[in-house]
Amino acid sequence: MLFINGSWKKTDEKETIYNPANGEAVGEVFLGGTNETEQAVTAAHDAFLEWRKTTGKERAAFLRALVSELDTHKRAIAETATKEMGKPLADAEREVLVAIDYLEWYAEEAKRIYGEVLPPSDPAKQLLVIRQPIGVTAAITPWNFPISMIIRKLAPAVAAGCTMLIKPAPSTPLTAVKLFECIERAGFPKGVLNLVHGDAVAIGKEMTSNPLVKKLTFTGSTAVGKKLIEQSAEHVQKVSMELGGHAPFIIFDDADLDNAVAAVIGTKFKNAGQTCISTNRIYVQQSVAEVFSEKLAAAVQNILVGDGMNQDIDMGPLISTEALDKVERQVKNAVQEGASITSGGAKTGEPGYFYEPTVLSGVTEEMTIATEETFGPVAPIFIFETEEEVVQRANNTSYGLAGYCFTKDMDRVLRMMHQLDYGMIGMNDPAIVVPQAPFGGVKESGLGREGGTSGLYEYLEEKYISIRAVSALL
Ligand code: NAP
Repeated sequence: MLFINGSWKKTDEKETIYNPANGEAVGEVFLGGTNETEQAVTAAHDAFLEWRKTTGKERAAFLRALVSELDTHKRAIAETATKEMGKPLADAEREVLVAIDYLEWYAEEAKRIYGEVLPPSDPAKQLLVIRQPIGVTAAITPWNFPISMIIRKLAPAVAAGCTMLIKPAPSTPLTAVKLFECIERAGFPKGVLNLVHGDAVAIGKEMTSNPLVKKLTFTGSTAVGKKLIEQSAEHVQKVSMELGGHAPFIIFDDADLDNAVAAVIGTKFKNAGQTCISTNRIYVQQSVAEVFSEKLAAAVQNILVGDGMNQDIDMGPLISTEALDKVERQVKNAVQEGASITSGGAKTGEPGYFYEPTVLSGVTEEMTIATEETFGPVAPIFIFETEEEVVQRANNTSYGLAGYCFTKDMDRVLRMMHQLDYGMIGMNDPAIVVPQAPFGGVKESGLGREGGTSGLYEYLEEKYISIRAVSALL
């Protein structure tokens, strides 16, 4: 159902959601379009008029109430996410905990939205900068993290004093409904948070053309992000774009290879490789390439693939038949162009969309897999010789979201962190996502940041005030 102005709403159209692990129906969702989006915008606008007057402390209390709801219902939320998009249940539960981390962090930050007093150029003046909520905001989110992608937008928006309408991905609407049940029980004033499902193009059009919407925040592919940036120009709407990635993972010959293998397993095969910061290109220095590839191929054998609802599963299915076809095509092309399969390389387990964890060696820059975001469980290994060469090859992409680098040489760490053109870099560290850090990309991977103080400022407008004393100030 849709959730608009504090009430659940049905429409005349509905759609069935299917489990990518077994093709079974998970549930139904009602679909809306332009009208429902307009209603949600109006509700969010009306709510904003009062919500903007609340204190940070009051808004923090609502965020904490939502934390408590998510904590109580984490199993049910995680089960819905697993059935809708396939990730292992333990990973879905961890995603709820990550969402809780973001909510808790922004509940604290809601109380710390400071202004500034600037030194005047004229002693008769007082110069102030205040930060105010930007107004009604609209969010469009993907299916790969159906819980945390919504919360990462909603938490700073609420903390800043904004209201929001959210369109979740069409494959994971029921997880969003579970979150909104928590939002309803947490007692947010009506209209502050609204949920619309349905025709993405119509909803996106209304979100960008309705002048009451002051900001659009989008997480998804670069192609759709570019369209939305164009649309948002109509009213010079503020935008945040969290787009695609093509992360390099660089392993120098002095790296701890066992740690590097474990980190590649985590960054490549978690979520079946369907993560924007997934390792997409593994660059290994020549002298350790053979031993690294053997260790990786052995480690990949231990990844247990299956229905995420089964205990002990490490990796679930891909989201759709299209996603499966894309991975198959990329592997097939790479092999035709000279790469070899060291592990995996085939579909399994029909009717689910399963693909074996796959390692490719002998991959070169000419192959499609070297330039196209994979979004699947395929680890292509490239070989390099020098630091200068690998920096150039790693940066040779229009994406710039995340990169990883493993080396024990601290001077090299300092050089690499400056030279890699990415918004986020894990130096000997594959686990980079925390609520206090700014998450986001450079180049065609996005605009703006989610998380950290920067994530809060995305929902605030700065206002500068120059006050001139009628007589002398001092
Ligand atoms: P997508 O196809 O771009 O879809 C994302 C969302 O946008 C969905 O809700 C989709 O709805 C909607 N959408 C599509 N066309 C639209 C339009 N013309 N107007 C308004 N909305 C529209 O991406 P995806 O396949 O769901 O997600 C995978 C992509 O997201 C990958 O590229 C990944 O790297 C990226 N991602 C980035 C981050 C990050 O933080 N940088 C995080 C996660 C994922 P419909 O499906 O109904 O069209």
